[in-house]
Amino acid sequence: MKRDFRDKIAIVTGAGSGIGAAVSRQLAQEGAEVVVADLDAEAAHSKAAEIRSQGGRAHDFAVDVTDAAAVEKLVEFAVQKCGGLDMAVNNAGIDGVRKATADYPLDNWHKLINVNLNGVFYCMKYEIAAMLDQGGGAIVNMSSVLGSVGLPTASAYTAAKHGVVGLTKVAAMEYARMGIRINVVGPGWIETPLLSEQMEAAAIRRMAGLQPMGRRGRPDEVAALVCFLLSDQASFITGSYHLVDGAYTAH
Ligand code: NAP
Repeated sequence: MKRDFRDKIAIVTGAGSGIGAAVSRQLAQEGAEVVVADLDAEAAHSKAAEIRSQGGRAHDFAVDVTDAAAVEKLVEFAVQKCGGLDMAVNNAGIDGVRKATADYPLDNWHKLINVNLNGVFYCMKYEIAAMLDQGGGAIVNMSSVLGSVGLPTASAYTAAKHGVVGLTKVAAMEYARMGIRINVVGPGWIETPLLSEQMEAAAIRRMAGLQPMGRRGRPDEVAALVCFLLSDQASFITGSYHLVDGAYTAH
């Protein structure tokens, strides 16, 4: 089966950087019209402009996924400005402080759960409603390897990413007979600003070494999996968790 995104409209959150930017680029290269959504309005603007300069179709949209009303407006934008919503990638996420559970600061806990878990729920809530109106669609949520294994000092991140896996399974079952497929992706350590900005080079090398492939993944390697799951090539795949982790979780 050949895949074709030429008549498709997509929303990608956290699209101003890293994995979300790579997914937006690849979707647009394959013909989709992409709403490049990010908290960082300037980053969203420049990524959308970059896609257009390469002949793709893209709009930028500033959104904070922790604000349900703003997420509703994002979906309205896709429906009203682009004419519908066929695909969504709920990718926006943050890293947290590294502290053992008893020392984990409450404000950091709430912030991380708000972005990485509540944000995905808000996005799905409005995206699914729009997809039901038009008879179907495909959603990919961004979890992590920490959606299935734990990392000491990362309780909030691990809880949120496990939560995204559970949320995906429930919604996939609820809408399986209504033409909506929903999957979740679990990347290992990927070369993006998410971790690089906070970690020293030696720590990054150490994390890369935890992956049996001996390197970090690239955003385009995650984007390839996401685009496959969004496409009709994955027509019988829904409700499942797909790793792209260089065998990190194979231990
Ligand atoms: P990234 O390069 O930091 O990109 C994340 C983007 O999301 C940034 O542009 C960020 O904007 C935006 N964002 C943050 N909070 C937001 C909010 N409340 N509303 C809307 N946008 C928001 O990170 P990445 O590595 O590409 O991560 C993308 C996703 O993959 C995340 O869910 C992350 O947990 C997951 N992931 C990453 C890795 C990895 O190793 N990189 C591994 C597993 C899973 P600001 O820059 O303004 O904060």
